[in-house]
Amino acid sequence: MIPAAFAYHRPADIASAVGLLRRLGDEARVLAGGHSLIPMMKLRMAAIEHLVDLQDIAALRDIHIEGGAVTIGAMVTQAELIAHEGLARAAPILREAALQIADPQVRYMGTLGGNVANGDPGNDMPGLMQALGADFLLTGPDGQREVAARDFYEAAYMTAREDDEILTAVRFTALPGGYAYEKQKRKIGDYATAAAAVLIGKEGGRVSHASVAMTNLSDTPVWSEAAAAALSGTDCNAGAIRAATDAALADIDPTEDNRGPVEFKRHVAGIIITRAIQRAWSRA
Ligand SMILES: Cc1cc2nc3c(=O)[nH]c(=O)nc-3n(C[C@H](O)[C@H](O)[C@H](O)COP(=O)(O)OP(=O)(O)OC[C@H]3O[C@@H](n4cnc5c(N)ncnc54)[C@H](O)[C@@H]3O)c2cc1C
Repeated sequence: MIPAAFAYHRPADIASAVGLLRRLGDEARVLAGGHSLIPMMKLRMAAIEHLVDLQDIAALRDIHIEGGAVTIGAMVTQAELIAHEGLARAAPILREAALQIADPQVRYMGTLGGNVANGDPGNDMPGLMQALGADFLLTGPDGQREVAARDFYEAAYMTAREDDEILTAVRFTALPGGYAYEKQKRKIGDYATAAAAVLIGKEGGRVSHASVAMTNLSDTPVWSEAAAAALSGTDCNAGAIRAATDAALADIDPTEDNRGPVEFKRHVAGIIITRAIQRAWSRA
């Protein structure tokens, strides 16, 4: 289908984009890669009067790595995340997760900022950002603020971002250790039936730190503090992995949809979480 008519704006800097959002209010929406927004407009599930395209704002395309501190601009595409050698060294889980998003066409256009700002529980980056303990940088009419990814998601498609704020970057500290992003999907190009992001540090043969998060298993991404606690200090034996998987399963709340009934999703989630922990530990 063809979307309803809209006005198109292409600001050259963040201040102009924020000014447009403030002036146009509810009728305006930011456009990044357009691979979530444009389909919604074509299906007439979103009627937007003004699109504020961010593609000319060079400041949103930076990738900065200093020691373990990583900052990635909102307009960096998933393909750029995959291709960036510095990122692959600092936080290889980004490449592993991005490679499991859709197909190359979507990844060439879809941006990290659009993926995390959208609030779609099926998107992979929000879950990964929980695992990484990332912060999101937002700029609005009152200046810049930072919101922890773990506090950002309120419900499906509802986030802590105000309508006149732009998500400008994602920031996190990359810790050394093992990693895995495991995703089960019905076919190539599909969203997850269940996915898990796991990071594990190893010292003296034991788990020094762990982080476990999940995608598409609740109406927001889920970070399981209890799963990490079940692994910490153990040698990641089968019992510890079972306990961590059970703890993670206690934190999810999947609903039935065309990817299956709740019981099936819980079954798949258990397998995915266990595999992710095993693989992350094998790389630690
Ligand atoms: C066939 C297909 C399969 C897909 N499969 C997957 C998948 O398996 N996993 C997955 O994670 N994703 C998947 N996607 C989604 C894809 O990754 C999207 O590109 C991504 O979710 C949104 O990024 P975008 O840059 O296209 O954002 P857009 O579509 O441009 O924007 C999405 C929303 O976020 C808002 N927004 C965008 N950028 C900002 C910003 N910087 N600040 C504030 N608000 C902003 C927009 O206003 C809009 O509401 C799929 C898409 C398609 C078409």
